[in-house]
Amino acid sequence: MFRTIDKLDVKGKRVLVRADLNVPAKDGKVTDTTRIDRSAATLTELAAKGAKVIVLTHFGRPKGREDKYSQKLLVEPLAKAVGKSVAWADDCVGAAAEKVIAGLKDGDIALLENVRFHPEEEKNDPGFARQLAALGDVYVNDAFSTAHRAHASTEGLAHLLPAAAGRLMQAELEALGKALEHPEKPVAAIVGGAKVSTKLDLLGNLVARVDYLIIGGGMANTFLFAMGKPVGKSLCEKEMAATAREIIEKAKAAHCHIVLPVDAVVAAEFAENAANRTVSIDAVPDDQMILDAGPASAEAIIDRLGGCKTLVWNGPLGAFEIKPFDAATNAVAQWAASRTAQGKLLTVAGGGDTVSALAKAGVEDKFSYVSTAGGAFLEWLEGKDLPGVAALTVKAPAGCCGGGGCH
Ligand code: AMP
Repeated sequence: MFRTIDKLDVKGKRVLVRADLNVPAKDGKVTDTTRIDRSAATLTELAAKGAKVIVLTHFGRPKGREDKYSQKLLVEPLAKAVGKSVAWADDCVGAAAEKVIAGLKDGDIALLENVRFHPEEEKNDPGFARQLAALGDVYVNDAFSTAHRAHASTEGLAHLLPAAAGRLMQAELEALGKALEHPEKPVAAIVGGAKVSTKLDLLGNLVARVDYLIIGGGMANTFLFAMGKPVGKSLCEKEMAATAREIIEKAKAAHCHIVLPVDAVVAAEFAENAANRTVSIDAVPDDQMILDAGPASAEAIIDRLGGCKTLVWNGPLGAFEIKPFDAATNAVAQWAASRTAQGKLLTVAGGGDTVSALAKAGVEDKFSYVSTAGGAFLEWLEGKDLPGVAALTVKAPAGCCGGGGCH
């Protein structure tokens, strides 16, 4: 259970909001304002409630103070997103920050300079966290994407001030909760992508939680190889065969059905429009590589999902960046999107390549929730406690109904 801003009295208070405004930029200009635009909801709500809103964020990976990572370029797009002027302080602690904050009126918004200009931020240094805390009365964390890091502005601060999740963090936690913590069953997970070795913890956690584990992409090749199937010159981590067999055993013990491709689209090279054909999974030629799940596999996956209420998805089913090896990913994604629209399936997806694969399939905004949180989303799929979330968690008081702003 975590506190939300519904539970905070913010009128006239200085509210420190940890946002994620780490946007892409080129030549001193922001090239994609999505993260800024999405952060605006929490900031404008707090401002409308009479808070003095002070925004903390990081930008890039500076080593100490480096001009090229100054956040001044965010002021203008942030002002546009929140529909009012935004004050700027060229440090996130000390006199510069104090002066700007002292000049704020109720409902005003200020942006402070990059928290990562201070190495103490990433060390979660208690003294630095206290310096930040001295600038505010209340703390709101709206940056799920950095919640897997215990930094001063993402974790330390939550122990020093009354703390709550912002609207973005709340939406993410609610969506993730519905997908794995208290899902409607049966639950399926699609795990695709390149390698088993990068997703071991994730697979281990999912087999214990889902009814169907659908494995695709390059990592399916390792499982197929482990089961004695021919994989030709496909991407395959042969040294992981024993691990793949262990995952299969663990799944059996947990009554989780593993679903693997039954056919494959193969080609001689990893290239756009490479000459290709569909073969049975038992007949992959030695000189060919599997680049996508075949149509019978996509159909079998859809068939399985037809009986499910919840789907969690990370990783494409094939080499989706190069046509026509995006076909299985597109077919399953589009089917899942239409099932979501019918209210028959809750669909939660995330992880870097997954977001672009779903965008390419034209369904990014047609799933119940698509997380752009990258590493934090993956650590959550791995079943790890995220320090930034744990610090917002409150124990349910005896007799709590679970409603009224606590989740
Ligand atoms: P990940 O970041 O682990 O989700 O992996 C995504 C990458 O896996 C994408 O770049 C895909 O091109 C790649 N991928 C998926 N299926 C295959 C495959 N059968 N062979 C080679 N690469 C693949």
